[in-house]
Amino acid sequence: MNFCRTRLTRTIIAACICLALCLARPASAQRLSTSVLPQHYALTLTPDLKAATFQGVESIDVTLAQPQNFITLNAVDLAFQSVTVTAGGKTQKAEVTLDPLKEQASFSFPDSLPVGKATLSIRYTGILNDKLRGFYLSRTARRNYAVTQFESTDARRAFPSFDEPAFKATFDIKLVIDAADTAISNGPILRETPGPTPGKHTLRFLTTPKMSTYLVAFLVGDFQCTSGAQDSVAIRVCATPDKVAFTPFGLDVAEYVLHYYNTYFGIPYPLKKLDLIALPDFEAGAMENFGAITYRETDLLLDPKTASLSAKKDVAGTIAHEMAHQWFGDLVTMQWWNNIWLNEGFATWMANKPIAAMHPDWNIDQDVAADMDNTLNIDAQPTTRAIRAKADTREEIEQMFDGISYGKASDVLLMVENYLGPETFRKGVHNYLAAHLYANATAEDFWNAQTATSHKPVDKIMDSLVAQPGEPLLTFGEPAGGKVAVAQKRFFLSPSIQPDRTQKWTLPVCFKTATDEPRCELVTPTTSSVNAPAGKLFFANAGGKGYYRSAYPPSVYAELLAHVETGLTPTERISLLGDEWAQVRANKASAGDYLNLTAAVRADPNAAVIDSAVSGVNAIYAYIASKPEQKAALSAWIRSTFSPAYASLGQPAAADSPNKRELRANLFLVLGINGKDPAVISQAREIAEKYIADPASVDPSLGQTALSIAAHNGDTALFDKLQKVYETSVDPDVKENALGLLAVFQNPNLELRSLDYALTDKVRSQDAAIQIAIPLHGDATRDMAWRYIQSHWSAIQGLLTPELGNILVSSTGSFCTADGRASVQQFFATHPVASADQAVKHALEHIDGCIELRALQQPQLGAWIAAQPKP
Ligand SMILES: [Zn+2]
Repeated sequence: MNFCRTRLTRTIIAACICLALCLARPASAQRLSTSVLPQHYALTLTPDLKAATFQGVESIDVTLAQPQNFITLNAVDLAFQSVTVTAGGKTQKAEVTLDPLKEQASFSFPDSLPVGKATLSIRYTGILNDKLRGFYLSRTARRNYAVTQFESTDARRAFPSFDEPAFKATFDIKLVIDAADTAISNGPILRETPGPTPGKHTLRFLTTPKMSTYLVAFLVGDFQCTSGAQDSVAIRVCATPDKVAFTPFGLDVAEYVLHYYNTYFGIPYPLKKLDLIALPDFEAGAMENFGAITYRETDLLLDPKTASLSAKKDVAGTIAHEMAHQWFGDLVTMQWWNNIWLNEGFATWMANKPIAAMHPDWNIDQDVAADMDNTLNIDAQPTTRAIRAKADTREEIEQMFDGISYGKASDVLLMVENYLGPETFRKGVHNYLAAHLYANATAEDFWNAQTATSHKPVDKIMDSLVAQPGEPLLTFGEPAGGKVAVAQKRFFLSPSIQPDRTQKWTLPVCFKTATDEPRCELVTPTTSSVNAPAGKLFFANAGGKGYYRSAYPPSVYAELLAHVETGLTPTERISLLGDEWAQVRANKASAGDYLNLTAAVRADPNAAVIDSAVSGVNAIYAYIASKPEQKAALSAWIRSTFSPAYASLGQPAAADSPNKRELRANLFLVLGINGKDPAVISQAREIAEKYIADPASVDPSLGQTALSIAAHNGDTALFDKLQKVYETSVDPDVKENALGLLAVFQNPNLELRSLDYALTDKVRSQDAAIQIAIPLHGDATRDMAWRYIQSHWSAIQGLLTPELGNILVSSTGSFCTADGRASVQQFFATHPVASADQAVKHALEHIDGCIELRALQQPQLGAWIAAQPKP
């Protein structure tokens, strides 16, 4: 799956310390016995899209390992009409007992079933719910659609099943639907026959390979598709009929990515077809159902002529992520949810490769370095967890789909790949996959395959990173005589937390200097010094691919600061900026030190480097500079620091590279929002007007940034225009942007209008909670949004699916005062959000960190400001 609403946070929230919006969704777990194993399901579903119900006729072939007179499987919110079992030549009727808490149904039989094969025959009914999970209803103004979302444990809402990832089976799926409708499932349509009743037709799909229940999908409606092909696989990108025009971009990406993966894995995509389908209502970003990947419309559909670069990166990246799952997850599946990182970490790491190859000018490697920096900040909080953690209960499984399973696991893979070399690592990946086709695997299976292929201690490295929570801080001495001293300890952002000194890692650490090529050394728990190059400009994270924080002696750091633009690559600069910000958080460096480093990269030509530098500046502005005169001084510093770089880019031109467009937009944003540059603000208003009138007339990255600045300072007329764009545009990207912008207006009347609007039926339930969470991130809008949430809780609570509840709760972590903290804590203590108790803990910890940061750094910032030359 993919949950990250990156675009929303990137373009709208100009200042936050990094609240991860990649969050959990729920699941329940009450393990089934392994004495009954499913082999094959034959499933006929007859949905009634008007009545929002469905009928199911199912047979399941199972094998019994021991004689028994009952069979237990998963089912929830299903009503059973009849259940029989045929075994040993005899058919018996079952007595059905439901356990709603365990989400199980038990079938007991008068006579014991013999060891060996048996077939269950089940007739049942269910409801097409409106909760975005199981078999659910999605609506447009024209009609209803019946669609599915099963990960983690919601297949049991659509059909009685052995709903655990290790119970793989084959599936024959038949759908009985209106004659005018079509349907999409995992396999291609094998046969279409009229009936069984007038006005209906029956679609039978090709039998699937062995697969897990959470990857089954069936989608009913009037979807239309753009078709293509790659390596003998039929590929389609599908949407509701009004949105087919936005499918070709995704098809191009999917065709490129399929061939890339076939070549990389050395294992061809295993099905005959691949469909990518945009659904009007969808909780997550996308879901990797085998052969039938489903998406939020904004994560698949766009118009390349008017979409910003970040929108293109999001769509392309989400497509590549879900397609990587066809191998990592669908073909080879984790044994149990505690190893979900084998799915999510791999898909996150892998997705960058084809997109970087397809678009070398998108600088994907720099985005990867920036993502790693964000993850290191999440992992330096005390409530972080190990990549592989115990996940037996519902609550524990829920917590597995987070920035650790996605971000940290992919960073660890990147570091190990960098250490082994890409080709050795690729062979290890191939060997791992080839050994577990259509089956399940554990973490050990992966790192043992890599250890055997590379003959390097990958098992020790990965075990130390996968089984332990948190991250190492490596503190280096002065390199001398070909050696450098190194000490490691667990790093926390908060200086008040003392690490457990016994926690150590085994890590590859890659060094470079101005004259020496990068080379890697292994740092183990007992290492106190390693071989190091002797040249000047010593840097201990060559390539910025190492998952650790670095600290240098003052003389080494001073040299890096002086030569940061000439001696380091862009990804290394991003890594150094992240390390310096971490030092500020830990009170080992001052906010002024960070601003000095930012000044040293102010003219950097890479958009992602500027973005990284600016994110720390924005955090200093929002959280450390709480006095008005400090904010005013920082605004002046931002203008004098970044205006020359912005001016040097000149007017947008058709020949501008994607990086140049993004860089211009990034500089424009910081000057307009926290720089409060009057010229930029008035220019933003003009560009925004032009962009609304004709999106093709303005560079999309600049146009959307201008809209963001204009909306922050906007009036009723602009609000009305954006609301009209949201209500009338058919372009999902344009629509989502317009809606999100309504939530950043700082005028209190307009903020209230936006909050009220989110609760009307004009805003889909998948978007409403996010919409209400956005103003929690703004200094000027936070208090009113929080009061509104509390006073409208009964209406808001009804919108909260587990993922959306997590986003809302996490957003309350942007308070930075003791009063705010007390209010958040009290409210959620008496108004618990389902499956969000971890998110409440994270939010409170985030507030604590911010209060501590302000108390420690505000005086230092005051001194730094006083020491600046007067303009
Ligand atoms: Zn995923």
